[in-house]
Amino acid sequence: MERVGDHYVLNGEKTSISAADQADAAIVFARTGSVEDGARGVSAVLVPMDLPGITRNRFDCHGQREIDRGSIFFENVRVPADHQLGDESKGFVQVMQGFDFSRALIGLQVLAVAKASLEETWEYVAQREAFGKPLSAFQGVSHPLAEYETQVEAARLLCLQTLWLKDRGLPHTAEAAMCKWWGPKLAYDAVHQWLLSFGHGGYDRGPMEQRLRDVLSQIGDGTAQIMKTIIARTRAGRDAVPA
Ligand SMILES: Cc1cc2nc3c(=O)[nH]c(=O)nc-3n(C[C@H](O)[C@H](O)[C@H](O)COP(=O)(O)OP(=O)(O)OC[C@H]3O[C@@H](n4cnc5c(N)ncnc54)[C@H](O)[C@@H]3O)c2cc1C
Repeated sequence: MERVGDHYVLNGEKTSISAADQADAAIVFARTGSVEDGARGVSAVLVPMDLPGITRNRFDCHGQREIDRGSIFFENVRVPADHQLGDESKGFVQVMQGFDFSRALIGLQVLAVAKASLEETWEYVAQREAFGKPLSAFQGVSHPLAEYETQVEAARLLCLQTLWLKDRGLPHTAEAAMCKWWGPKLAYDAVHQWLLSFGHGGYDRGPMEQRLRDVLSQIGDGTAQIMKTIIARTRAGRDAVPA
């Protein structure tokens, strides 16, 4: 991205963007400093999606299909300089702090799906009988559910604690990363258990397969590996855990 008078001129493609073809505006991170500056040479600008030179497409995703993803292409797009967010070449570092908030929200979002799935499973296993007893009488059925109940409750409290720390202006980057790697993994596993508990019914098309695909939020907003690196860096220090 280049500064020309009172505009920035934007060229390039960003792929894999949620709601790429639906958004009215996008926050775009683009390099204004040198490559050697790393993340400290990246600025953030708010780009209205109706500016000349912008084209978009849509991918065929297996999950979150209502939102979907796509690429945004920028060809000599002139963005008014006053659309810059934060300071020049510092935008990435400044705006990225918002991710600590969204990571806790993603945790709560997927855990709500896990919680609803567990509630439906309890109801089903209490009424479905096999070998003369409700399925819930078999510990092989009810104990995994009890374990997921415990873990989902703990993960939910972690998300709430992260938001509590944020509200008080206290450090919460590591906690947010914990929400983001653990929440989606746990939700996926709990939904899988829900599906298994329904026996052959769990193999039907419908809400079960949809939930399994939708809670797979382990990639967007930062992968599990990167989240664990953030946690390690927070605890051991940046020098001990280099990029
Ligand atoms: C549903 C969804 C929604 C998305 N929405 C958006 C969006 O709105 N905006 C946006 O900008 N992007 C979005 N993304 C893109 C997402 O942020 C990237 O896909 C993600 O950051 C991983 O980058 P990558 O795909 O280039 O994988 P790569 O960087 O190629 O990584 C591939 C694998 O290698 C691992 N890996 C890479 N480097 C390291 C390392 N140093 N240490 C350990 N492991 C490593 C990764 O964790 C990953 O498992 C979305 C992706 C998905 C799936």
